[in-house]
Amino acid sequence: MDAAELLALDAEHVWHPYGPMPSTIDSLLVREASGVRLTLDDGRELIDGMSSWWAAIHGYRNPVLDAALAEQAGRMSHVMFGGLTHEPAIRLAKTLVDLAPEGLRHVFLCDSGSVSVEVAVKMCLQYWQSVGRKEKRRLMTWRGGYHGDTFTPMSVCDPEGGMHSLWRGILPDQLFLPRPPGGFADEPDQDYLELLATEIGRHAGELAAIIVEPVVQGAGGMRFHPPAYLRALHEITEANDVLLIFDEIATGFGRTGRMFAAEHAGVTPDVLCLGKALTGGYLTMAAALCTPEIADGISRGELPVLAHGPTFMANPLSSAVANASLGILAEGGWRSDVPRIEAALKAGLEPARELPAVADVRVLGAIGVIELDHPVDMAVATEILTGNGVWLRPFRNLIYTMPPYISEADDLAAITSAMVSAAQKA
Ligand code: PLP
Repeated sequence: MDAAELLALDAEHVWHPYGPMPSTIDSLLVREASGVRLTLDDGRELIDGMSSWWAAIHGYRNPVLDAALAEQAGRMSHVMFGGLTHEPAIRLAKTLVDLAPEGLRHVFLCDSGSVSVEVAVKMCLQYWQSVGRKEKRRLMTWRGGYHGDTFTPMSVCDPEGGMHSLWRGILPDQLFLPRPPGGFADEPDQDYLELLATEIGRHAGELAAIIVEPVVQGAGGMRFHPPAYLRALHEITEANDVLLIFDEIATGFGRTGRMFAAEHAGVTPDVLCLGKALTGGYLTMAAALCTPEIADGISRGELPVLAHGPTFMANPLSSAVANASLGILAEGGWRSDVPRIEAALKAGLEPARELPAVADVRVLGAIGVIELDHPVDMAVATEILTGNGVWLRPFRNLIYTMPPYISEADDLAAITSAMVSAAQKA
């Protein structure tokens, strides 16, 4: 089929993320992707500064990941996980337990980031039900967060101006703390620390868990906060019998310069959600890891099993490619790649600070953000970015990049200069 036919069918039948139907969005038709580059139907090449929504950390057509996938496809693409098990999933669970912050021993492998948040919350709710604290069934989070698009994650996304404000009144009613103040390198705000202690203490009786994105609030606004708040949350939740969930779906696997963002604070949550880069962006898979205390609590309940079991749980193809991706990370190249990218993003985005419409420029690890003082004109921005050979997807007032770790100096220079140009005109 030629491009015009395909795009007409796309507009008529295919729903895109946050898109209208019939579609009025001019999607670009991608034919191939290799390394950091997308090849469009018309032959144009774009550097993918988004890593395919923050997941393709090793780039596309990575030979190690391709081989792992082909090898696994030659053996078994999928089997049900109820009553059956297999080596790719077992190896993956063991590697995740070894990599994750100390103390997380059990792994639930599921389909997507949103589902891993559902599972994490279910683990916490079922834990309290099982140990006889049935009144502990609410969640608390801080404003400015994003945890996914299914109903429980939506209920803990930023309630104002966020993507899910439409659902207010329909979603479960959760508790919200103010957005964590300050930047990554700032001293923690003492008033905020006190507020955390007071509010969590006040609601502890009804609280099952607190869920936050550690260090980086991603799709809720690309903001970085001081790790000290995570240490405080850990202490306060422990003292008040509240469980702590870290959603590292965006930050996991090196993105912030540490394997997991929790390491900036040196704390282990009760439950850890992972996804996105878990399979190097090849296939859909996520995980919720928890402590033995949670598993033990659930096993003492009226229903002594975790009540969850998706059809494609622990898919062998996803597990095999995740093992290969973790193998590449184990070689350690990311430990120098991410600081190299951080330095390039800092240098390349610096000129944006001088622009009149720029409210802030911030960089942490392989994340670079230009925040404007007005909403980005998407059509103008996309034209400038793609015209400069770069694929990025700004949102609200943010032009940002989360490039693959294999991005080279020229790629990063192209990305940052396109971002600065877009910030000037969009
Ligand atoms: N949590 C965080 C922090 C995310 O950034 C995302 C996706 O952007 C999700 C959860 C949802 O993951 P998924 O899109 O795989 O359902």
